[in-house]
Amino acid sequence: MPTIKEIADAIEQSAPKEYAESWDNPGFQVGFPEKDVTKILLSLDFSEAVLDEAIAKKANMIVNHHPYLFHPIKKIVSTEYNTNLIIKAIKNDITIYAAHTNLDNVRDGLNFAVAGELGLNGIEFLEQTTENSGSGVTGTFATPMDETDFLHFVKDKLQIGAMRYSHPTGKKIQRVSICTGAGAFLCNKALEIGSNAFITGDVRHHEFYIPDNKMLLIDAGHYETEQFSRRWFMEVIRKRFPNVTVEYAECGVNPIGFLH
Ligand SMILES: [Zn+2]
Repeated sequence: MPTIKEIADAIEQSAPKEYAESWDNPGFQVGFPEKDVTKILLSLDFSEAVLDEAIAKKANMIVNHHPYLFHPIKKIVSTEYNTNLIIKAIKNDITIYAAHTNLDNVRDGLNFAVAGELGLNGIEFLEQTTENSGSGVTGTFATPMDETDFLHFVKDKLQIGAMRYSHPTGKKIQRVSICTGAGAFLCNKALEIGSNAFITGDVRHHEFYIPDNKMLLIDAGHYETEQFSRRWFMEVIRKRFPNVTVEYAECGVNPIGFLH
C-alpha cells in the first residue's frame, strides 16, 4: 500500500500547492504522512460525522476540498469545539488532508470539471494567472440554449434543491462563465467578456444587480458547485493507485437543507 504522503503527492502533482491563494491552507491538516494508507474517504467538508464514518470504516485518510484548519489555533483541548476533533482524529490514527484553491485554480481542476459536466466546449480560464492557473472558466455551448431551458439544465446537472438567479435577459445562452464556491468577485469579468451567464455560489443580494439585465447570474450554491471536487479526487487517486480503496463519505452531505 502507498503511504499517505504518496497519495497527497499524487493529488499535488495534479493540483500544485503553488497555485493556491496566499490566504489559503491546503495540504496536511492533521495526521501521519508516513503511514501506509488503509482506506480513503472523500468529502467536501470535514466534520465529526465524517470522522466517525472514517473510524467505523477503518479509513485512515480523509480528503476534503475545504481545509479543516484555517485560522491559527492557540490550544488543542478536548473540551474545546473543533480542537476536540483533532484529538479524536489523532487518537484514531486518522489523517485529514485538503486541496482547496490549488484545486480551484489549476487547469483541469474543479472549475474545468464543472464546465465539462455542463458540456461546455473550448473551456479556458476566465481570469488567467499563469499558463496553467487562473480564476474561474468560460466555455461555449455548440448550440445556444433557451434561457429557461438553461436554468432547468443547470439545476438538474448540478442537482440543486432551489436555485436563485438574476432577472432573465431574454437572450439565448451560449457563452457561460463559472466560478465554483464563492465567486461573485468575477461577475464583472464575466460580464466584460460577454458571457451570457455566470454560475457561482454564495451570491449576495446586491450582487444580483451587477449583471444589469445583460447577463444571467446564477447562484448555484457553494456545495452544489464544489461537490464535484470529490469526483476529481476519486479519479486522480484511482488512476495512480488502483488498489487503494477510496469512497465518498456517506456523511459528507450538503449542510444546507431546502424546503419545497
Ligand atoms: Zn468552497
